Amino acid sequence: MTESPRLQVRNLIRAFDGQRVVNDVSFAVSAGEVACLLGPSGCGKSTTLRIVAGVDMQDSGSIHVDGNLICDTHFRIPPERRAIGLMFQDFALFPHLPVSENVAFGLKGGFVANRARVAALLERVQMSRHIDSYPHELSGGEQQRIALARALAPRPRVLLMDEPFSGLDERLRDGIRDDTLALLKDEGTAVLLVTHEPHEAMRMADQILLMRNGSIVQQGAPYNLYNAPADRMAAAFFSDIN
Ligand code: ADP
Ligand code: MG
Repeated sequence: MTESPRLQVRNLIRAFDGQRVVNDVSFAVSAGEVACLLGPSGCGKSTTLRIVAGVDMQDSGSIHVDGNLICDTHFRIPPERRAIGLMFQDFALFPHLPVSENVAFGLKGGFVANRARVAALLERVQMSRHIDSYPHELSGGEQQRIALARALAPRPRVLLMDEPFSGLDERLRDGIRDDTLALLKDEGTAVLLVTHEPHEAMRMADQILLMRNGSIVQQGAPYNLYNAPADRMAAAFFSDIN
């Protein structure tokens, strides 16, 4: 018997005003794998992510986590019971809570009941000394590390990340990408990362899902796409990387 992938998305379709924004999208992500959904602005990446998260709903298609149905046209588990973590571009930390409670937010009992897990994660992202700080006292890069720790704290089966580096200073981005990737690999969760930057996908992905106009036009390992783009538009998309 073969093991089910951690995340399995099959034949997702979502239309707004009769226009298909997600058009028959299928893919799978394994535990420990980073899959990058890569494509230009407006191609349907965030909509796909929101459907997997459960904050938007597909018109048809199904999603399974560890082989268990999460939602299809007839059945839907609510977002908070999917064991799926989320991390957004703006980090969305709670401004009125200290770092300790931000990181513990998804954990039953808050910080008091989860000191060890919170302390270990803060240590891992080198933010231990900021445990009592508030978000406004932190730099963008520091906020990113807290948001990452918060997203990973409940040990999600799947972590969804929507352009998680685009708000950061360009000069810091590659370093933060590498640190983030190392932590994601340590935690071993399945990651679906949305980006419009080919460079970011090349740097972080085990698997790239190249999306255009609502469809996945090519998928595979980064260097396979880079070396053998499926068509001229895919080639153009990778041509600015060196
Ligand atoms: P991406 O994340 O790749 O930039 P999105 O998934 O956010 O793209 O959006 C894809 C398309 O769907 C865009 O044309 C966008 O305007 C449209 N869209 C997204 N959400 C809605 C909505 N709630 N109502 C109508 N159109 C939407
Ligand atoms: Mg988007």
